[in-house]
Amino acid sequence: MANTYRPSESVASRLAKPQPLLVDGIFRHAGDSATSDVFDPSSGNVITTAASATEADTLEAIAAARRTFDAGDWTGLTPAQRGKILWRVGDLIEDNADEIAELEMLDAGKSFASARQGEIPFAADCFRYYAGWCTKIEGATKDLSIVPDQDFHIYTRREPVGVAALIVPWNGPLVQASWKLAPALAAGCSCILKPASQTPLSAIRLGELCIEAGVPKGVVNIVLGGGASVGNLLARHDDVDKLSFTGSTQTGRSIIDAAKGNLKKLTLELGGKSPVIVFADADIDAAIEGAAQAIFSNAGQVCVAGSRLYVEAAVYEKVVSGVAAIASKMNVGAATEEGHDMGPLISSEHLDSVCKLIDAGKQEGARIVAGGEKTGSSNGYFLQPTVFADTDHTMQIVREEIFGPVLVAMKFAGDADISALANDSDFGLAASIWTRDVGKAHRTAAAIRAGLVWVNCHGIPDMAIPFGGYKQSGWGRENGQEALLQYTELKSVVVKL
Ligand code: NAD
Repeated sequence: MANTYRPSESVASRLAKPQPLLVDGIFRHAGDSATSDVFDPSSGNVITTAASATEADTLEAIAAARRTFDAGDWTGLTPAQRGKILWRVGDLIEDNADEIAELEMLDAGKSFASARQGEIPFAADCFRYYAGWCTKIEGATKDLSIVPDQDFHIYTRREPVGVAALIVPWNGPLVQASWKLAPALAAGCSCILKPASQTPLSAIRLGELCIEAGVPKGVVNIVLGGGASVGNLLARHDDVDKLSFTGSTQTGRSIIDAAKGNLKKLTLELGGKSPVIVFADADIDAAIEGAAQAIFSNAGQVCVAGSRLYVEAAVYEKVVSGVAAIASKMNVGAATEEGHDMGPLISSEHLDSVCKLIDAGKQEGARIVAGGEKTGSSNGYFLQPTVFADTDHTMQIVREEIFGPVLVAMKFAGDADISALANDSDFGLAASIWTRDVGKAHRTAAAIRAGLVWVNCHGIPDMAIPFGGYKQSGWGRENGQEALLQYTELKSVVVKL
């Protein structure tokens, strides 16, 4: 069927111009006017270009954030005023939801429906959630024990950490940017946001909405460009007090090295290889459906994707063949077409790296029960939803994050220590447990070394739920009060009266 999608007028006019930087309140080209191509992963076509920030552009963005923070351009507003502005950003995201969903569809390969019903309202909620926190950032009073007969007043203050650099990946461009920008602004920070070079469109739109909502100029800056250049400079720079990064564990390590000069505070949301554990007493139909959704939504390009499936022996064949049947029936197609179940991977490079791991799995002797090949007639980056059975922990496909629609299935005996098996991973981001036995559910949840455990569901997010990883899945948490506090410093004040 021919693809009949045509961009809306507003999106077409945005794509006709290079995506600009936002530096000190001004949307502008890079200093040397350099640009890079932006691709639609569904077609492989160049849809627009984006400014590539030079070193001088990035330094100017850092300087603007530093100046506005030190001058109190944002913190000088009352907490309620800041809260109103953040709430307004949420409203504006919602007002422009159709347009932003279209941008995410073109740029990140998400279906319009999933972006419009999922990501966009979620990003709006994020700004509203943190709008509420602006008036609730509090210190405490303390009593001295060491000098009982003296007269002291002791209190703590929560203060913004300062200039925050926010580096995000391509798999959820608007949501990831919102998860960082909203709490950083609520805490009172001035920010420099760097989206992934593959997906600049929604970040620039978000920058426009922040300015429209009333965030003072220079408080939100957006630099576009590569990780090794722009991202590394943000990580190294001494005027950046805090860096919040979401991306691969490998890049996370290089950020730790780059950030050590001024020991800037770091939040790292890194990779995952999350187990889905199905006990024989589970609602098997729900578990099959849940396991398929856990790995195939957003074509497996989800940090909490359920990529390792452990099934109790008695139901192993049934569950694996059930997930494989769903995979085989899935309609893989362009995000811009209606009626598909799974869209493209983000880029040809990423598709190649996923295919390399699939080949490694085949060579290591894992049995393919669904998919395993590239697909699609257009030049987009499509892969069949893939299920491997008979895998084990010596295999590369079991140990490494694939970040694509590739599931590895393993059988466990009823009396096995399933949490030890699930914990045998460098990662510790998330897990799901499927059982009708409440005791088993809670005992297993406690034994799993991961930041998020779902029972009889997988991937349910909420702004109130702290999100982040154990082990090599990262440092710190996003969402909830926890994320807010990570954009603050705590000061104790001891006053002798
Ligand atoms: P990536 O690490 O290659 O890039 C992420 C971001 O970091 C991009 O903006 C990139 O330009 C920038 N970057 C790259 N090299 C850099 C450097 N040396 N210094 C500073 N910045 C640099 O990751 P990716 O391929 O874009 O995203 C996929 C990865 O992200 C997966 O590993 C996935 O698990 C992880 N991820 C984690 C979470 C989470 O919350 N834990 C969420 C989404 C994605």
